Amino acid sequence: MKQFHCRCGSEVFFDSHRCLKCDVQLGFDPASMTMVALPDRGDLARCSNGDEHGVCNWLHPVDSGHTLCVGCQFNRTIPNLAIDGNREYWGALEASKKRLLVTLMDLGLPLQTRWDDPAQGLLFDFLDDARSNPDLFPDSFVSTGYSEGVITIHVLEADDAARTQIQVELKENFRTLLGHFRHESGHYYWALARASGVAPEAFAEVFGDEGIDYRAAIDRYYQEGPPATWPEHFISAYASSHPAEDWAETWGHYLHLYDALETAASQGLSDRTPADMTMAERIVAWQGLSIAINEVNRSIGRGDAYPFVISPTAAKKLELVDTVIRQLQTR
Ligand SMILES: [Zn+2]
Ligand SMILES: [Zn+2]
Ligand SMILES: [Zn+2]
Repeated sequence: MKQFHCRCGSEVFFDSHRCLKCDVQLGFDPASMTMVALPDRGDLARCSNGDEHGVCNWLHPVDSGHTLCVGCQFNRTIPNLAIDGNREYWGALEASKKRLLVTLMDLGLPLQTRWDDPAQGLLFDFLDDARSNPDLFPDSFVSTGYSEGVITIHVLEADDAARTQIQVELKENFRTLLGHFRHESGHYYWALARASGVAPEAFAEVFGDEGIDYRAAIDRYYQEGPPATWPEHFISAYASSHPAEDWAETWGHYLHLYDALETAASQGLSDRTPADMTMAERIVAWQGLSIAINEVNRSIGRGDAYPFVISPTAAKKLELVDTVIRQLQTR
């Protein structure tokens, strides 16, 4: 994430609603990718999801014909606000979604809502099921996932305690809300790459045959777990479940690296931005930086921020993701 400053000079953040120093009201303008002081910009208005629910700090042009910002226009279903806690969960979902969208914009990837482009656009469903409220949603079960242009996130993934419980049950070493958004966007862009004719021939060679039975592969993964040698071949244990999941996991890590390296550059920890690096250079830079961040985390009694090692095989997969991103950028 880039570094932002208020008009008074103090540092403000991507999710800031006000400057803590001068108290001016702030908002994020996705057109200029900057934080702006509302009183300075009569041509911009706050998103109605910010005004009415406090879950968005993005702005839109007053003459856009919308009351929602461009980021909130990607929502098809929002959490049921009659359920206790859902407004807070929605806020966390929006924060992660906006962070995903900004990186996708930064990368120059095609990004349209399915309202504007019904064939190739993207939408989000934030859904509850019986686990949120058995009376409102009897016998229902929602899986976080991707299907035909729609990313579904189970609302309780925004509940830290619920998400950690699933993480422990599945023996995962990393499970974050932002990670879900980034992973699922990988499925969307892979479908877009195929539809656009830029899916590389090398996919099968690098990731394997994506035509193998998906349901059987996922069931086997949850029954038997990953192969013992997964760290040599995959970026995460879950990536070993199926080539399509391997792609989405690798894509998600690509976005983690890209955003983290951009943050490092904007905070003065690195003198190069990821936009000016080759994939190989990004991986080397990230290996150094992630070791340092992990050590800092351990110094204050926290777990590793990035508990992964990028093997040469995983690096090759990241290279292929980079190739696809470059081809999608020029569409
Ligand atoms: Zn200020
Ligand atoms: Zn909004
Ligand atoms: Zn997936």
